[in-house]
Amino acid sequence: MSKEKAIATPNKTKQILEKYDFSFKKSLGQNFLIDVNILENIIKHAGIDQRCGVIEIGPGIGALTEQLAKAADRVLAFEIDQRLIPVLEDTLSEYSNVTIRNEDILKANIKEVIPDYFKKDQPIKVVANLPYYITTPILMKLLMERLPIQDLTVMIQKEVADRMSAKPGTKDYGSLSVAVQYFTEPQVVMNVPKSVFMPKPKVDSAVLHLKMRSTPPVHVKDETFFFDLVQACFAQRRKTIMNNLARHFQPQMNKDTIRETLLKAGIEPGRRGETLTIKEYAGLSNLFYDQIKAR
Ligand code: SAM
Repeated sequence: MSKEKAIATPNKTKQILEKYDFSFKKSLGQNFLIDVNILENIIKHAGIDQRCGVIEIGPGIGALTEQLAKAADRVLAFEIDQRLIPVLEDTLSEYSNVTIRNEDILKANIKEVIPDYFKKDQPIKVVANLPYYITTPILMKLLMERLPIQDLTVMIQKEVADRMSAKPGTKDYGSLSVAVQYFTEPQVVMNVPKSVFMPKPKVDSAVLHLKMRSTPPVHVKDETFFFDLVQACFAQRRKTIMNNLARHFQPQMNKDTIRETLLKAGIEPGRRGETLTIKEYAGLSNLFYDQIKAR
């Protein structure tokens, strides 16, 4: 198909929107892509080929879905907005390898439906231009559910992409960086201008590639406890780790025990949360876990 005929052009998009008298819902984060070159780049960074199965979140009017259908073996897309279902049936009618589910991705049982749509042992990837208002909940759900996927390539708010991929000691590093890096190896692969969306979003965008780790980079005794502790250490960014942990663990633990546990983990109590590596967080979490469990 020529690029002019693709859905992702300003003219074709306008035509589709007019035909269906479609009005954007800001509350659903509807900013559609109108640039085929950007889509081709996303697909290149996602490493999609004809063997791949792809899960897409929020197909909109099908701009990205169409390119995925051409590049991959099959595509399963979850769209919450019921008004878009007849539109997609029309715009993607040429592609027999696409299935659209009218479902909220946050409520969907993805793991359960995967065997219905994909071949056994087929490499599965997630590719999406995500609705920005729920980027983090969507990504955390996909990661925590340990889906049988190779990687995720997602267009998200640039600021969030920077936080997810941030290294210790930087201003962007926080509990989100630790959580995402526990499950994946993240890399910002593209910065994307506002001009390639209709309507234009207020914020800058970036494409983040998240390669799933086969095993976490550190051993933690209890994941929920670990994530809670990391979050607590960043609760007040300007405060020391000692103060943040005291707020979190008192009165269960007193300040002396907290200080001793920090020192036992080799961590100076005056340090701030943003200086600790994921390995240091894991060690700390395991020691605090033992302390709490021993009670
Ligand atoms: N993929 C299209 C594109 O690139 O042009 C549209 C992307 S738009 C940023 C986000 C899409 O996600 C919209 O179609 C919106 O209706 C849909 N969406 C929003 N919240 C959703 C949810 N909870 N579950 C599934 N889809 C959702």
